[in-house]
Amino acid sequence: MFITELKGIYSNKPFLSNIVPYHEIAPQLELFINQEVRLGSRYLNPYRFAFKFGYNPKDIINLFIAFSSKGGPLKRFYRFECGECEELHLLDDDQFKNLKCPECGYDGDIENIDFLDNVKVVFEIKEPFLKEVQRRLKDQASSERKTKLKPQKTSDSEEASLKSVMDSTDAANESPDEDFTEMIKQVKSRLSSGLRK
Ligand SMILES: [Zn+2]
Repeated sequence: MFITELKGIYSNKPFLSNIVPYHEIAPQLELFINQEVRLGSRYLNPYRFAFKFGYNPKDIINLFIAFSSKGGPLKRFYRFECGECEELHLLDDDQFKNLKCPECGYDGDIENIDFLDNVKVVFEIKEPFLKEVQRRLKDQASSERKTKLKPQKTSDSEEASLKSVMDSTDAANESPDEDFTEMIKQVKSRLSSGLRK
């Protein structure tokens, strides 16, 4: 179960408890996931979560980075549009490290001053957990009387840019995930090393 995975991450990374304790976030996250999946989403937006439960978005971003570490219940992707071929990409850490368009090979996007703002970090619920929630919701729906869903207000939910995620993790005392920190190191070194030969 999603919550069980979460517990495992908390025991591997005790410093997460200083950000938000497990017993506090677990029921909130469960509620949030149910709502988001019911609305048809497979992604969790840290800003929406922070807004809903009154947290500092920086804290939630750090937690989501931890929850999307290898073996975690979330999977993070970097979404951006290639400046050359305009293809939209969802890349994982390893793919993103190369910062090259998988479609056309263009590698000049990083030179764009807005690049880090334009890259959005999305947190996807891993397939088995998504299925589990969908199944549970279906069972509930068939046993309960139909309840009308409130119209969704998503237009006001900002997406997490890579820039804001980097700022948030920089501000934290400990790295929420080494793979993420490693990836960022490479991106930063390319940003500062004159980039293109
Ligand atoms: Zn391209």
